[in-house]
Amino acid sequence: MRSEADPEPEWIMINRAVVTLMPLVPRSLVWRVSRRYIAGRTLDDALATVRSLNERGMSATLDVLGEDATREEAAVAGRDLYLEALASIERAGLDCNVSVKLSQMALRFDVELCRGILEDLVAEATRRGNFVRIDMEDSSVTDATLDLYRDLRRRSDAVGTVVQSYLKRTPDDVARMLEEGIAHLRLCKGIYVEPFEVAHQGRERIRTAYMEVLRQLFEGGATRVGIATHDRPLIEGALDLIRELGVPKERYEFQMLLGVTEGIRTELVSAGEPLRVYVPFGEEWYAYSSRRLRENPKIAGHVIRNIFTQS
Ligand SMILES: Cc1cc2nc3c(=O)[nH]c(=O)nc-3n(C[C@H](O)[C@H](O)[C@H](O)COP(=O)(O)OP(=O)(O)OC[C@H]3O[C@@H](n4cnc5c(N)ncnc54)[C@H](O)[C@@H]3O)c2cc1C
Repeated sequence: MRSEADPEPEWIMINRAVVTLMPLVPRSLVWRVSRRYIAGRTLDDALATVRSLNERGMSATLDVLGEDATREEAAVAGRDLYLEALASIERAGLDCNVSVKLSQMALRFDVELCRGILEDLVAEATRRGNFVRIDMEDSSVTDATLDLYRDLRRRSDAVGTVVQSYLKRTPDDVARMLEEGIAHLRLCKGIYVEPFEVAHQGRERIRTAYMEVLRQLFEGGATRVGIATHDRPLIEGALDLIRELGVPKERYEFQMLLGVTEGIRTELVSAGEPLRVYVPFGEEWYAYSSRRLRENPKIAGHVIRNIFTQS
């Protein structure tokens, strides 16, 4: 995601090399580094984290960690974990919704099975006064994800999805969803490595695209916008835009990942800004951690330090 004018510093390349060697790092060590980004292995761990966030004035969204499901049983098991999560959130009276990845729900091998699972989740969320956010994955499933979202959103308000500012198609997708009145969207930069043909490359270009899409969403009357970023210039830009356009608090919230830029998070909450924390948990923590470590080479530095300072 870098342009030629934005070369990769040597230390990042070294850290990337370390991350490539991740499979050789003991799991116990990966766990030590990762635990601030993951609420734990069980639903109870996650609910305890959510309670503590709620007590500090933050909402949450639960993500049951899982990789691509390649069998029906795995997809159905994933659905059942989410159904249990929705029931537990209501029982515990928590301010928390759920975020799901459709690849975990059979999207890549059986779209109709995926639709059925999503219908079950959205029906349950509707019944319990809750909400399902469909995370956006790589560009090979953007169309399929938006199609399913459209279908479900026509039938219930209890579902939203995500758009990625790095995708060149995003302004068109947003324009269409605004027109259809279904723009209940989280806006993020996008996490997957995508080719030049489909995605803007380079930090500044992606930032510019982010601000353009955010303006498009607010000016176009989006139902609600999740401003998902830890990037300070974007957060400040978003606050300026919100002031400029007089966007009411019911129409937006900031969103951040658990364990990331907690200082900025606290500043926003102290200033009375609505903020939701994305809380991943589950047995599949290792795959998630490896991805986070690959995504942010700075964290690899912590791994290296831990290797050498381990007692
Ligand atoms: C709530 C939420 C939901 C998301 N959902 C999706 C989704 O559905 N689909 C998708 O493609 N992407 C998703 N993302 C990821 C997003 O696309 C970005 O890859 C990610 O947020 C990093 O971009 P950034 O805007 O925070 O800016 P960056 O410039 O990457 O980060 C700004 C600063 O934040 C810190 N930081 C950022 N990420 C991390 C991290 N992982 N660990 C430690 N520090 C970090 C660093 O200090 C960094 O300098 C989501 C992000 C958030 C916050």
